Amino acid sequence: MNASPPPLKPEKPKPEKACPVCRKPATEAFRPFCSKRCADVDLNRWLVGAYAVPTEETEEDEAQGIRRDADEG
Ligand SMILES: [Zn+2]
Repeated sequence: MNASPPPLKPEKPKPEKACPVCRKPATEAFRPFCSKRCADVDLNRWLVGAYAVPTEETEEDEAQGIRRDADEG
């Protein structure tokens, strides 16, 4: 048998941190978020979590990312 390892192709040239809210590349100004809005969203999550109330409908586009709640641990 010919044991020839396949050529490794470069993946992830630069491990950039992604916004935990919308998974977009974070910006230095609002790290680890991509924008102030996402920072607010994350903050809101903490606030609403403390009161256990439904979040206000902001933007469904971002909401999809929020759906990924850290409820596994
Ligand atoms: Zn974001």
